[in-house]
Amino acid sequence: MGLVSGKVALVTGGAQGIGEAISMTLAKEGAAVAILDVNLEKAQETAVNIKKLGVDSEAFKCDVSNVADVETTVEKVVDRFKKIDILVNNAGITRDNLLIRMSEQEWDLVIAINLKGTFNFTQKVGRIMMKQRSGSIINISSVIGLMGNAGQTNYAATKAGVIGITKSVAKELGSRNVRVNAICPGYIQTAMTDKLSEEVKAKMIELIPAKKMGLPQDVANAALFLASDLSAYTTGETIRVDGGMAM
Ligand code: NAP
Repeated sequence: MGLVSGKVALVTGGAQGIGEAISMTLAKEGAAVAILDVNLEKAQETAVNIKKLGVDSEAFKCDVSNVADVETTVEKVVDRFKKIDILVNNAGITRDNLLIRMSEQEWDLVIAINLKGTFNFTQKVGRIMMKQRSGSIINISSVIGLMGNAGQTNYAATKAGVIGITKSVAKELGSRNVRVNAICPGYIQTAMTDKLSEEVKAKMIELIPAKKMGLPQDVANAALFLASDLSAYTTGETIRVDGGMAM
């Protein structure tokens, strides 16, 4: 028996990076996983890899910022898997620029995907979990939401906002046995950070007490804890997975 055997998980942005690692980790511990992403081809590859582990999985194309898309996709997931026990709001992007140069488009797009996307899924799936009288919602925030970062005003606003959503919804849904927690990853090796220059990477690593980048698996291990009954009495919490970066 795995830690989440028999449960159904929905992971947004699950095609690659941290979302893929979370999907694979939950699957290895027995959960069926619905992989949602704008990149359907990559999401399907992840679903195939999960099925090889002997658990059910299917990929769905979905843009988390589009309310109608979210509504129909959640319906499709429930039709297919009959319930949703674990929601991981992971899809996220960056559009970095200094505040004085930041365009309205750069601001709006990051808010729409990182913040409104989290609201969209939390509301639609939260309703289902309330009726079920059980569920675990895991929001992927960032240490940038705790510390701020020059060049990331838009991103920091969304990631701080995700912590606000986490605590508010944890208070609203606590009595219905629905737990809501956030993870703040630090500097993790994925496509999102691959695009940074070697100079920026070296500077970031200097700031981390552990003196190294984290791996998607490090974040997935925290997500497994929050998804499973090991964290049955934990809600409204924010867990840093950052090698000590933001303490
Ligand atoms: P990633 O490798 O870029 O993966 C993100 C996935 O989300 C991609 O498959 C992306 O598809 C998808 N996506 C983008 N926009 C979407 C949308 N509107 N609807 C649905 N899916 C969408 O990023 P990651 O590094 O794994 O990051 C995952 C989460 O962790 C994000 O919320 C990020 O902010 C957070 N985080 C990451 C780090 C880090 O160091 N990597 C640190 C702290 C927090 P496309 O590639 O096709 O756009």
